[in-house]
Amino acid sequence: MTFQWDRHVPAERRTEKNFLPAEVRLSHQYALYLHDRVVRILKHAHASQLVRVAFRPRSAEHASQTAHLGGVDLWTWLESNGYQDVVREMAFKEMFPALATDFCHFVFEALSCSRRNKLTVAYALLRKPFQDNLRQLEWLLADSDEFVTTFLERPASARESNARQSEAYSVPLIRRALAKTAAPALHDPQMIHDLRYDKDKHFSFDHLSQKAIHLVTTKPALLTEPQNVNFIFSNETSWASQWRHLYSTLPILLRYAVDICEPLAAIAFGEIAPGLAEFRARSTLGFFAWAYDLERARQLSGEMRSAASTLGAIKVNCPHCDRPARDSRIALRSLFFNGHLYCPRCRKQADSESYAATLHVPDPTEPPTLVN
Ligand SMILES: [Zn+2]
Repeated sequence: MTFQWDRHVPAERRTEKNFLPAEVRLSHQYALYLHDRVVRILKHAHASQLVRVAFRPRSAEHASQTAHLGGVDLWTWLESNGYQDVVREMAFKEMFPALATDFCHFVFEALSCSRRNKLTVAYALLRKPFQDNLRQLEWLLADSDEFVTTFLERPASARESNARQSEAYSVPLIRRALAKTAAPALHDPQMIHDLRYDKDKHFSFDHLSQKAIHLVTTKPALLTEPQNVNFIFSNETSWASQWRHLYSTLPILLRYAVDICEPLAAIAFGEIAPGLAEFRARSTLGFFAWAYDLERARQLSGEMRSAASTLGAIKVNCPHCDRPARDSRIALRSLFFNGHLYCPRCRKQADSESYAATLHVPDPTEPPTLVN
């Protein structure tokens, strides 16, 4: 076996900046769209100064003592002078955007690496945001009091341990966090857990991220084959397989992450970032455009899995004349990318929100399936 660095990208594609195969380009855009919603939430909070915490000194002396304090000095003063309620609010308001911003940085770089055919780096980058950041965000949403108390008063070992990645801890945590989202039934907690942590499942990001990070892995589920080294002898076939896997699973986790961040932002900042209705419409239409490939649909689970299995029966009807689009797949792609669609039958245009409101999705007929 030789290291085929000179064949890393076919010569005819070397001049392009985007090396993604055509079949995953919509998925890539869909993943970026989901990522961008979290970015928009964070930008809105900073631009509107929603991350600030109101501090009202209880006396003129306190006002004078804190007039020129900031950052860690102010934090320490508040803790020492009985302003625990302000410290707790600061902890919540600062942890959410910090965790979410870091999450976005890693996801964006991973997507950027994927676009440039650096899949080993992409998989290595995805481990932290989905295992660490997202778990902290879930915890913050599921039980903010416990999170803040642990953050302020307990050692690091209480916040981070292998036990927190276990199925026994993680699945109930996901379920409790989902209960506080707008659509708790949209995601399957077991699937969300397996995708991130279960080394034994071939579709798990942990399985592939471990191999991307380590040249040789020795655990039975990850065992490196004799005369091989993880990931670095990839060829065209394995890149295609890694791309297919990445884009058949990443949007599920990203949509889940957005659904966790929306209520956290509403709690932390007291208002919802602009564009939520349009985001919900386009992300729903984008989901069906993405899931149209039934090969991908087999890897989904829960309501998403069942909804995807009914793709062939989806009717994208014009909100004006109620007649169906000739090609649902093309109509969904157009609505996702452009945010509107022109109906050649009644010659009127409607936006994605109007189309999403009239989208006819048959009830799922198959039970949820988890494929290993
Ligand atoms: Zn029409």
